[in-house]
Order: sequence, then C-alpha cells, then structure tokens
Amino acid sequence: MKDIRVRFAPSPTGALHIGGLRTALFNYIFARKNNGAFVLRLEDTDQTRFVAGAEKYIIDALKWCGIEPDEYADKPGDFGPYRQSERLELYKKEVDRLLSNGSAYWAFDSAEELDERRKAIDNWKYDHATRESMKNQLTLSKEEVAALIEKGEGVVRLRMPVDQEISFIDEIRGKVTVNSSELDDKIIYKSDGFPTYHLANVVDDHFMKISHVIRGEEWLPSAPLHIYLFECLGWEDEKPHYAHLPLLLKPEGPGKLSKRDAEKHGFPLFPLEWNFDGKMTPGFKEMGFFPEALTNFLAFLGWNPGTEKEIYSLKELIKDFSLERVNKSGARFDYEKAKWYNQEYLKTMSASDLVHFIPNNDSSNFTEQQVLKIAELMKERVVFAKDLINEAPYFLQAPTEYHEKTVRKKWKSDVSPKILQDMTVRFEQIEDFQAAILEEAFKSYVEENELGFGVAMIALRLALTGVGGGPGLFQISEVLGKEEVLKRMREGVSKIEQQKEALV
Ligand code: GLU
Repeated sequence: MKDIRVRFAPSPTGALHIGGLRTALFNYIFARKNNGAFVLRLEDTDQTRFVAGAEKYIIDALKWCGIEPDEYADKPGDFGPYRQSERLELYKKEVDRLLSNGSAYWAFDSAEELDERRKAIDNWKYDHATRESMKNQLTLSKEEVAALIEKGEGVVRLRMPVDQEISFIDEIRGKVTVNSSELDDKIIYKSDGFPTYHLANVVDDHFMKISHVIRGEEWLPSAPLHIYLFECLGWEDEKPHYAHLPLLLKPEGPGKLSKRDAEKHGFPLFPLEWNFDGKMTPGFKEMGFFPEALTNFLAFLGWNPGTEKEIYSLKELIKDFSLERVNKSGARFDYEKAKWYNQEYLKTMSASDLVHFIPNNDSSNFTEQQVLKIAELMKERVVFAKDLINEAPYFLQAPTEYHEKTVRKKWKSDVSPKILQDMTVRFEQIEDFQAAILEEAFKSYVEENELGFGVAMIALRLALTGVGGGPGLFQISEVLGKEEVLKRMREGVSKIEQQKEALV
C-alpha cells in the first residue's frame, strides 16, 4: 500500500479561517492515525491576493492548536519546495506536456471580449460548444499563435472532452459522476509564468505523493476537473483518494457560516488575532479559548464517534477518528457549544494552572495565595480563565449598589439589618479569619436566634458581594479578609436599607 501522505494547502490570502483550521485538523488527525505524513503546502500562485504575514499566521495558528506539520517550508522533507511560487518550473514543464499532447490550448480572448459574451448569453461558458468561435489556438493560425505567445499574451485552457463520464469515489460522499460536457475549459496557466490553482494543485499532489486529499466541500465541484487532469498528465493510476468535508453552516438559518455571522453574534472566526484594515480583531485565543477546547469543538463539526462521549483530546481523536464517521451534511457552527467545551476543559484544570491566564490588572490587587483561592472558587462559574476575577467584581471592589431584585425580595427590613449588625460583632471577635470558622460562627448565631438560614445568609451575601448568588460566601470572606468584610457589613446595614426604601 502507498504511504499515507496528506496535505493542507491554504492560500496566503489572509488569516486562517476556522473552516480552514478544521480542514487542517482533520488532515493532521488522519495522518497521525495512519502513521502518515502531514504536509503544509502554501498555494501562493495568485499573486494579486497575496497577503504579507499570512504564511506566518497560518503556521503560528496551527502550532498553537498543537498541529505541527511534518513537512513545510521551514522544515522541508523530500518533496519540496513547499511554496508553489518556488515550483514554477515544474508547472511549466507539465503545461508544456499538456499543450503538446493536445489536452490544453492557448487562448487569447481579452477580458472585454469575454465579458461581452457573458453579457449577451445567460450562463455563457468557454467550453466545447463555444471554443471554436473564440480567439485561440484552435481558431488562429500557427503563426498568429506564435506571435501572440511571443508578445507575452494569452492563457492556457484545459480542453475538456465531449460527453465523457468523469467519476471518482469520495470517501465521504460515495461515487461522484459528472459528464465532461458540463465542464468549462478552465484556465490552467497564465502568460506570466504562473499556473492557476487547478494545475498547481494536481501537479503538486502528484509530485508530493499525496495519498488522500481531504478538503472542504467548496472544492467538490473542482474534483472532476482534477481527476481529468491526472488522466491528461498520464497519472491515471496514481490518483489520490478524495474526501470532501461538510460545509460549516450558520449558527441559525440556512447557508454557509460567514464573517457577518461572527460580527452579528460577536464570536471569532479566526484562531489568533488578526489585523483587519488597521483594526486588531481578537481570535479564539484572545477570547480566552484553550486550544484543546477549540480542536475538540472543531473535530465535532462534521465528525462524531457515534457514542455519547464528547470530550476528546487530540490523542483520543487520533485513536477514534475515521473518515467513515464524517457526515455528508453541513455542520452547524454553534458558538455556545464552543464555550461549553472551554468550560469543560477549564473545570479540569488546577487553580495553579489557571492563574496564569488572569490578567495582571486583576490579579495584582491580591497576594498569590488569594488569587489561587479565587481561581478555585470561580472555576466552575466562568467560561474563560481570564475572567476568573473579572466575573466576580466583588473581589476587586466593595459593592456600590445591590442587586435590585434580591433586595426587593430577600432583604427583610425587620430582621436583615439586625442580623448584619449582630454578625459584625461576632466576626469582630474572630482572630483566625478562615472560612470554616466563619461558617461555624454564622451557624451558631442563626441557630441561637432561631432565624431562617436563607434570610440570614442572603443579608450577609448582599452586604459582601452586592449580588444574590456566587461561590461559597465564607470562602469569599476569607479571601477578602477581616477588615474588608467588617467594613462592607457595616456599610451594608444602612446602604441596603436605603436602597430598599427607595424601591418601595
Ligand atoms: N488553495 C486551496 C485553498 O485555499 C486548496 C484547496 C485544496 O485543498 O485543494 O483552500
């Protein structure tokens, strides 16, 4: 059997989109599963769309996700170069073969001439039916053709045959068949010495000995053309297997996931931050996602193990993944699910690992010990580790206002102020301001006075945090420390009461 070799072949036209990242991930997992090689090939033949910094971005993003290519420009294997712009001679040689075996021809129609045709005839195509009426090698004399090529004009088009069945087996979709008459004569090479995507892609898949082409569904319509190109180049017995991954769909409604969806719902579409027209836009990393959570989420966009298990490390994905379990139908992009994954990963991490994600601005107000305690208290309650302190503002500041609904419903003017005052006295006497001791003091006070546990607790919680819910109140008190707790309790008595009065 052929060695397993797969490739991820992005064009450096901007930041790597989340859909591209999913394609890279599936290729990587497939390669690792089959002890194969994962190649990163840069498809940079369209010079007009080249964006500086995109190549670095792609590599940084892959590495952040734990997807390290086995062969690429900076780490060449035996099949380089890995940037198409450095392989131009190879394409030239192959296009010459196509021209001389009659599979391709030079065409010289100007952009205006083509436009005119398109305007005049609906769905006009440059194909077997129209090529004989166009300005090309099939209609011009040898001398004219030679002169135009000499002048540096023209493009090379693939000459599609008439009424031939082109078919292949897609590993995900099954047999795909297209009649060659339906396909147009695609441009495969330009007079500037650059191939177009189709030619370069096929030539490279061949010479890089790619065994499986795993890519997004948007390339499915190009696959018959690629199959045909393999045949024209005499490589019909060496075609790779093809697998087209399902589209990523909008969070709601029909259609493909778009940048507009991301803007509308405020979620990122790119793994790392990227400068769009002078504006830095945060990626999943900057939003606070762990790469493990992101890859887990992405793996389930189109694949599932067929069990209830949802948490998958890369290692486990490599063990359980198969192309047979990739769906044909589109995968809905559910940002809430992405957040759920992040939270699941966060919960499994220790406070000491989590504290590194807390911004200095938040953590510098506390001792290391306090930060650890806050992280422990908050880790079940946040989606992103960076928000461990930020989402509980009461750690940073005494409440200035109290949660209205809680005050209205749970603050009892006849007992709550007194409870706070009495508890202040009790807490004043405690030297060792520890959660367990505070809790003990609170409990005995409530019992001795035959009070409702809930009413007493909420009075204290409101005074200390300003809100009606949150992590263990005595643990919060321990972090805040005696002085701050007493201060907030004293202030709370009058302030909460005032707020209550104002509400009535
Ligand atoms: N350069 C293409 C892209 O940008 C590659 C498609 C393929 O994998 O064949 O996605």
